[in-house]
Amino acid sequence: MASKARRLSATQVSYTFSPATEPKYHVESGDTLIVETPDCFGGVIESEQDTHDVLDLERVNGAVGPIYIEGANPGDCLKVKIRSVRVTGGTGVMMTIPGFGLLRESLKIGKTKICRISKNRIVFKDGVKVPLSPMIGTIGVAPELETVSTITPGAHGGNLDTRDVKAGSSVYFPVFVKGALLGLGDCHAAMGDGEVCVTGVEVPAQVTLKVDVIHGFKLLRPIIETEDEWMTLGSAATLEEAARLATQDMLDIVKRKLGMGDEEAYMLLSAAGDLRISQVVNPYTTVRMAVSKNHLKSII
Ligand code: CA
Ligand code: CA
Repeated sequence: MASKARRLSATQVSYTFSPATEPKYHVESGDTLIVETPDCFGGVIESEQDTHDVLDLERVNGAVGPIYIEGANPGDCLKVKIRSVRVTGGTGVMMTIPGFGLLRESLKIGKTKICRISKNRIVFKDGVKVPLSPMIGTIGVAPELETVSTITPGAHGGNLDTRDVKAGSSVYFPVFVKGALLGLGDCHAAMGDGEVCVTGVEVPAQVTLKVDVIHGFKLLRPIIETEDEWMTLGSAATLEEAARLATQDMLDIVKRKLGMGDEEAYMLLSAAGDLRISQVVNPYTTVRMAVSKNHLKSII
């Protein structure tokens, strides 16, 4: 690793994204960071007998940070290039929690499952293995004014639970406050679109990422760049509103980059844009609108 790599410890976590929280780390634009992230339970689940009863719900989903990025100012964009997400430890934890999850009206019992992880597979149970597909569940910056729990996603990012936030992808965040105040945690060994029961396969991880400030590039909400797609992300109280935000953001990009008017851009998204559900449980939902790089080379 280059000498600029900075190591950030899993002990420095915050449970909110807030302009008021004192930064725990200061880094430069262009730095590579190696971040040790705790699992979303803070590592307190040691056996399948430990259910939601042992959790302090005010102290779950800790995000390592806040990380102050020198030179980031309101109106800039923070690009976070994810180099790797390495699951540390040999197990992942899943949980059902009464009152949470998409089927909370019918499924009300809290249970814990601990899955062994071996050879790029998660052993869900005998004969049922899920491919390892590590991702970052929670990553965001401080909102302009509010203090937001790390459980709730929004324009600042946060608990986006979007499978494409993974190695090889970049996430672009609006910068609302000086230093941006980045935080991340809540990694999953795997998660399905929707995250219907309210947990992925929750793991501690070592995340390597590079941060870069793009001056004067203003965003309203986070954007993901994967190897072959661009994705705008909307988070809102309903799926329909989240879908509307993601679609409007992508429509604006298509108009600006491809020189189309409203109706033509709208039709292109209808022909070649994909709306995908990220998660439906946080309790705001997150939806992404994806467009191939064949159509959209760049958004900047
Ligand atoms: Ca999450
Ligand atoms: Ca999680």
